[in-house]
Amino acid sequence: MKDPRQIDVPRLSLAQLPTPLQPLNRLHDKIGGPKIWVKRDDLTGCTLSGNKIRKLEFSLAQAQAEGCEVVITCGGLQSNHCRATALLCAQLGLKCHLLLRGETAEADGNYLLDQLAGATISCYPSVRYQQELTALLQQWQEHYHNTGRKAFVIPTGASDAIGVWGYFHASKELADDCEGANIRPRHVVCATGSGGTQAGLTAGCHYYLPETRVWGVNVCDDEAWFMHKVNQDIADWQQRYQLQSPAGEGYSVNVIDGYVGPGYAVAEECIFRTIAELAATEGLVLDPVYTGKAFYALLQELRAGRFGDSGDIVFMHTGGIFGVFPQRRGFHNLNL
Ligand SMILES: *Cc1c(COP(=O)(O)O)cnc(C)c1O
Repeated sequence: MKDPRQIDVPRLSLAQLPTPLQPLNRLHDKIGGPKIWVKRDDLTGCTLSGNKIRKLEFSLAQAQAEGCEVVITCGGLQSNHCRATALLCAQLGLKCHLLLRGETAEADGNYLLDQLAGATISCYPSVRYQQELTALLQQWQEHYHNTGRKAFVIPTGASDAIGVWGYFHASKELADDCEGANIRPRHVVCATGSGGTQAGLTAGCHYYLPETRVWGVNVCDDEAWFMHKVNQDIADWQQRYQLQSPAGEGYSVNVIDGYVGPGYAVAEECIFRTIAELAATEGLVLDPVYTGKAFYALLQELRAGRFGDSGDIVFMHTGGIFGVFPQRRGFHNLNL
């Protein structure tokens, strides 16, 4: 059994790292309480912006190590993960095939970038996608094998045993940032959608920021689903790489439920308002699918006292900017 801090796995250098850690001073002057710091993973790249590239550094390295020429992955029509994968595949000279959930729509946001990146795109209506995703991924993989091309399947959000490394290593980066800023945050909050970011942070912070509790705000499904998914990703990671379990009670997985709103990628006015207010106060842009809901949750939970009344909190800005534009209508009644 190995210490995860000491083993080397295949990795490509693709993201702009380290990303900055910045305090929200103007927001703090306005609302008081604990100071919120933002880890700017929206700055991992311009069109590559967001959290997925950290995981894809490992997934795509594995694809290349296995001699694959094709990468197949999946997500919603406006998936940030699919957009990052499509652009990185173009950069690396790999063929990218995206299986997207939803009817073909106007080319906008991430979906437009997928097309610019030259990805092959297959769209499936939601019900069929949900019922048949595993089979569809397998069918397309076989299709490529039959034409003599080895295809690598990356699951939703690159949240699997391989992807956990992305935020395991980001936790070390964050620990260095905190040391540089001379803070010892008690909480780290991130949006959670397929669980891999939270899984990596949970495992990584256990070693690198042991006094810090990691919270995922779920943007779909519920607490029970994510408790299971995050623990499963960590267990798969430990098994695949023969990693030791931490001493004591093991990893502590924490979910903040109650902020999904009407559904995945559907946001109420309070979310659009939070996005507009933070943009105007700090020049920081969140998105209505992930970070807007997670930041809104952070503010609500702060008021409710979940994080205490002082100290430092880190909000992980996981990106999502291209998801703002297809939802421009949500800002219409705000009188900006
Ligand atoms: C995918 C995504 C998340 C959620 O990360 P997971 O690892 O899938 O849980 C959060 N924010 C943004 C902007 C994302 O694209």
